[in-house]
Amino acid sequence: MISRIIKDENVRRLSHLLADATRIAVICHVGPDGDAVGSSLALASVLGRLGKDVRCIIPDPASALLMQLPGAKELVDAARHPDFARTLLRDADLIFCLDFNEPKRVDRMADALLAATAPKVMIDHHENPSDFATVAISHPDMAATCYVLFRVLCRLELLPYIDSTAATLLLAGILTDTGGLSYNSSDPELFVVVAELLRHGADKNRLYKLLFNTVSESAMRLNAYAIDRKLEVDTDMGAALITLSRGELNRYHYSKGDTEALVNKPLAIPGVVYSCFMREEERYIKISMRSQGDFPVNEICAEHFGGGGHINAAGGEFHGTLEEAADAFRALMAENKKKYILKK
Ligand code: 5GP
Ligand code: MN
Repeated sequence: MISRIIKDENVRRLSHLLADATRIAVICHVGPDGDAVGSSLALASVLGRLGKDVRCIIPDPASALLMQLPGAKELVDAARHPDFARTLLRDADLIFCLDFNEPKRVDRMADALLAATAPKVMIDHHENPSDFATVAISHPDMAATCYVLFRVLCRLELLPYIDSTAATLLLAGILTDTGGLSYNSSDPELFVVVAELLRHGADKNRLYKLLFNTVSESAMRLNAYAIDRKLEVDTDMGAALITLSRGELNRYHYSKGDTEALVNKPLAIPGVVYSCFMREEERYIKISMRSQGDFPVNEICAEHFGGGGHINAAGGEFHGTLEEAADAFRALMAENKKKYILKK
């Protein structure tokens, strides 16, 4: 049905590790998105049906919308229950690391993850994975961790254990990381997998509504304000920038996930090649970048904002004021143009 991409050696090793494991912990990256939550809960669902005792840890809370995914209430939020999350990692006999490529992406849980003695299985699609896992199944060419995970489950002959709930969760990750199959989704086999998930009962309509067409009134107004009042566009530089301070976020009763889609919007303006959104958090400025074509926002985020990600979607952090962060971005625009836009 689909080509065999997951290495035989990894399938064999993972299969042995699973056979020996009873208590399994699953952990994903901080700021969990639909791919992180979807892959974690889908894996837990499948392994649960195999009789394994599985718990999923999120380093910090997921958005209220993601919390409506099936099984999300069972997620252990390490921000609220740090000791319990640490115990789960310590006592597990197998740990899955989903949708991240280096321990620091689990933020406050990084030390506990590294200290845990259980074998670690990484399943991920971010470039340049660090060498921390016992088995590393890393496919940066694939659109979503959920897509990689589906292939892994196929190879483990666990397809019959994917029920409608697991199928919905896997599709949630694929839809999240491709903007509803709009970008990063030209691989024909991705659609074969989507078809298979639909065959297994994935609730596509509910997912589109939940992931792309549900927004609170205050969030809608916050996004409108950000675009109307805070958007800076420099088509000569191919760049767009939006910043939101704590005060502005509070005015619109910001809650997690409310600005998820904002950074994509300026890319619709002709001449905008890449877009940056900066949100003032309590401890740092959260940076999100998106681009089109071969403009590598992951390089910019890695070089200047201590982060990373994919060529067209990346993020990072800035330690300083929001204005300093914005100035740092503006100061990079000419260099970015020379390096990534004019080079062609
Ligand atoms: P977002 O802008 O939605 O937070 O993140 C977009 C992409 O960049 C995601 O694939 C995410 O994994 C990655 N990313 C976001 N923030 C960071 C960060 O601080 N460090 C790294 N390494 N990747 C990030
Ligand atoms: Mn992902």
